[in-house]
Amino acid sequence: MQRNNKPEYDVIVVGSGASGGWASKRLAEAGLKVALLEAGKPQSDRNFSEHKPEFELPYRNRAIEILRKTRPVQSVFSVCSEYNADWFVNDIEEPYTTPKDQPFLWMGRLRVTGGRTNVWGRVSLRFSDWDLKAASHDGYGEDWPLGYQDLEPYYDLVEKYVGVTGLAEGLEHLPDGQFQPPMPLTCQETLVRNRVKEKLGRTVTLARSANLTRPQNGRGPCHYCGPCERGCVTHSYFNAAFTTVPDALRTGNCALISNAMVHKVLLDEETNRARGVLYVDRNTRETREIHARVVILCAQTQESTRILLNSGTREHSSGLANSSGVLGHYLTAHVRSGGGDGELPAFGEPPSMGGPTKPVGIYVARFRNLKGQAPAKNFLRGFGYEGGSSVEFNWRAPGFGEEYKKALREPRVNFDLTGFGEVLPRWENRLEIDPDMKDVYGIPVLKIYMKDGENERAMIKDMGDSAGEMLEAAGATNIHTYALPSAPRWALHEAGTARMGSDPKTSVLNQFQQTHDVKNLFVMDASGFPSNPCQNPTLTIMTLCVRSCDYLMNELKRGEI
Ligand SMILES: Cc1cc2nc3c(=O)[nH]c(=O)nc-3n(C[C@H](O)[C@H](O)[C@H](O)COP(=O)(O)OP(=O)(O)OC[C@H]3O[C@@H](n4cnc5c(N)ncnc54)[C@H](O)[C@@H]3O)c2cc1C
Ligand code: SF4
Repeated sequence: MQRNNKPEYDVIVVGSGASGGWASKRLAEAGLKVALLEAGKPQSDRNFSEHKPEFELPYRNRAIEILRKTRPVQSVFSVCSEYNADWFVNDIEEPYTTPKDQPFLWMGRLRVTGGRTNVWGRVSLRFSDWDLKAASHDGYGEDWPLGYQDLEPYYDLVEKYVGVTGLAEGLEHLPDGQFQPPMPLTCQETLVRNRVKEKLGRTVTLARSANLTRPQNGRGPCHYCGPCERGCVTHSYFNAAFTTVPDALRTGNCALISNAMVHKVLLDEETNRARGVLYVDRNTRETREIHARVVILCAQTQESTRILLNSGTREHSSGLANSSGVLGHYLTAHVRSGGGDGELPAFGEPPSMGGPTKPVGIYVARFRNLKGQAPAKNFLRGFGYEGGSSVEFNWRAPGFGEEYKKALREPRVNFDLTGFGEVLPRWENRLEIDPDMKDVYGIPVLKIYMKDGENERAMIKDMGDSAGEMLEAAGATNIHTYALPSAPRWALHEAGTARMGSDPKTSVLNQFQQTHDVKNLFVMDASGFPSNPCQNPTLTIMTLCVRSCDYLMNELKRGEI
């Protein structure tokens, strides 16, 4: 709808997850009229089931075959379960393709307000200049067109609102943040932390995590019930569905339009300006247009790039904002197929059923290819680990009867370490539109090309070896390590495909995530990352987004957009 040829909205934001939630909040709170288009359905506390026992579910959370019928990809990762499967995309209705020899699991595709933040692991880590200027350190790829100093005040702002529990460690390459008081480490986590520091000089810290330990903005502190991926009625972890999006709506300046599957950005070819978007109403299958002065894509890396690739015109046949030819290229996603586990003592703690469950484990900070160390022999960049332990029953106890019952109660502590490694951005890892397939809404789907190179293979091997080294240093027994090729590629932390840069000939976005080609078109998710450091990406996605929104508002005031 338009009044006096003026669009009804100032800004269209596509996607209501980590980035879209922040964009809507920041802009609506500043007085701009925002239309927030979300492909998924509305989310509500009524859908949360973190306290519901399995025996209350129709299939007791045991019928994975039923989930596989509609969500063969999403259900590969156990966060998609009988509890919450309907928050995830139906893989049959919204497929993607890959070359036969490059299988790729595009998991964590959510279709509900809040996007992936409904189910994310919440680990929230800052990047440093070791990451943003990595190309200057080792000569591979491109530096980011901004530095840590540019991000620091925005990291502060985002962390204070999100609520991140963490321990300050004073590491240059993993900067400390505005932490809520730390959740305590378990005895085993403390043991590993101390021994690994003492023997190997590596830092094992609390996994900095978006879980509250103090009340904040009407949200309660975490009460250790455990399965955050099923929601949280006390709003104790960060989920855009009960934080940024409601804040935006409360202003009265933001309209959430659910079930709106955006197909393409509409371009006014005379003025070379985005005039709005075309979307399909998922319930009625009707096609609609909506108009605004500015369009911001926040639909998640692959989804936003899909929209741009599908927005080609006669002038821009290879996709919108693609004069560089770089759009779709340099897809990255962490490798996480190296790690290990081992047994540690229980220190007298008995196992329990239904006892408190700490939703946050440990994080091992990167220790390869940093200042003052010999470079790793056969790979660039680095990796960190997520991990932790809990005291369990001895489920594998042999025998039966009294003897079995006694053996079962013997506590077992398994301590695991899973590596998360940086994947180098490479031209050939890319997204294209598959000319032969459309989704159920008639929108052309993506073809994803992604495979590991020598650097990733060498890094995965070191992830396994180093995990073994640390478990040994901690005194663990029954140590097992693994270093597997990472195909089919797991993907939860994808980035790249519309990279930022200072040169419009080699990048799609400038440092404020504004497309070089179309001044009133922005992409504020991880598509703009020129590289994908080993730290989890979402804190930086949100931080960049707020910074870019401030730039956008300034440009609007100056009449530059
Ligand atoms: C299981 C899991 C664990 C994770 N753990 C961590 C972690 O510990 N730490 C970390 O940093 N990151 C983690 N991540 C990644 C993190 O969730 C994402 O980086 C982050 O949510 C991405 O934010 P986004 O705004 O780009 O996309 P999302 O949060 O996914 O939001 C995108 C939204 O856009 C909507 N959308 C998509 N296409 C369209 C369209 N065409 N039209 C309209 N709307 C559309 C989607 O429905 C979705 O709601 C995890 C992810 C998963 C799945
Ligand atoms: S563990 Fe904490 S944050 Fe997670 S669902 Fe329970 S109360 Fe919420």
